[in-house]
Amino acid sequence: MKTEKYDIVIIGGGPAGMTAGIYAARARMKTLLIESISVMGQAMMTEMIENYPGVTEVSGFALVETFKTQARSFGLEIRQDTVVTVKKSDAAEWLVESETARYETNAVIIATGARAKKLQVPGEEKFTAKGVSYCGTCDGAFFKEKHIAVIGGGDTAVEEALFLTKFGRQITIIHRRERLRAAKILQERAERHEKIKFIFDSIVEEIKGAGTVDEIVIKNVKTGEKQDLVCDGVFIFVGWEANTGFLKNVVELSDKNGIITDEEMKTSARGIFAAGDCRKKLLHQVITACGDGAVAAYTAGQYVDEVKGTVYK
Ligand code: NAP
Repeated sequence: MKTEKYDIVIIGGGPAGMTAGIYAARARMKTLLIESISVMGQAMMTEMIENYPGVTEVSGFALVETFKTQARSFGLEIRQDTVVTVKKSDAAEWLVESETARYETNAVIIATGARAKKLQVPGEEKFTAKGVSYCGTCDGAFFKEKHIAVIGGGDTAVEEALFLTKFGRQITIIHRRERLRAAKILQERAERHEKIKFIFDSIVEEIKGAGTVDEIVIKNVKTGEKQDLVCDGVFIFVGWEANTGFLKNVVELSDKNGIITDEEMKTSARGIFAAGDCRKKLLHQVITACGDGAVAAYTAGQYVDEVKGTVYK
């Protein structure tokens, strides 16, 4: 397998990775961004983003495509591939191995984002793509005039429930606590919407059906009472987990597998930086992912200059 050489390799093509790519390419670092062919990031799956300053309403897909065009215009090389390992090569270099190639690089920026968490209840796996979904944008249109259950009480659950009203006859948000965690503006919109109903203090115990989803078993966590809710679809939005499985024993991870960085996006391994939702951080937003990406590219650039002895004095 041929080994190619770069100053910086960025892993991940969402807002954090693309922003890092824009900054690194403008700094004239020889930079490669590797994006996954199969994984669609959280931003890409978002139907409408309305809190990215300067852009009033844009789909996540369109925004990330714009980032990509902008990054390419500065000379960023982008490849579709899947990274398997990141290993120390020599004192100043890292070896990034993908399914098809090997890359030697002075610095690595991890921007692999996060994937939807599973509920881990009986029937969830069996009915995935047969009524169970983790993406309204991808699957909403299959549920025209249907009853859809949305599980979760955060921003994603409420935003997706609102989006699903375009298709479903009724949307029932099922949340395990007595009040939602989502931003107040989203809560107000959902409460006002005639198609949205709420079941609080309740968890899903089982998803059932004959071929596709027919009903779910819900348990009230305060009374212990159980009920069967007839529905055609179950959209699950109970949080995200960082895509960091391939980095165990390479960089320090939190108990929830987020990469631990300092405020300069430096990880526990010299030469490895992290940005965006794969990082342990307070606020998971497109804007904060972009901020992380800019900082990571800047500090990675400084690191590359240092190890190559090209620091401007
Ligand atoms: P989140 O904020 O972590 O919310 C997850 C929700 O799922 C919580 O309500 C949680 O309940 C519930 N939950 C977790 N595990 C559960 C289980 N096993 N069974 C039942 N319910 C469970 O995740 P998110 O909504 O995907 O948001 C992730 C991040 O993205 C947040 O920082 C959010 O602000 C951001 N985001 C922002 C926007 C926006 O700005 N427009 C849109 C989407 C996402 P509890 O409340 O009881 O913990």
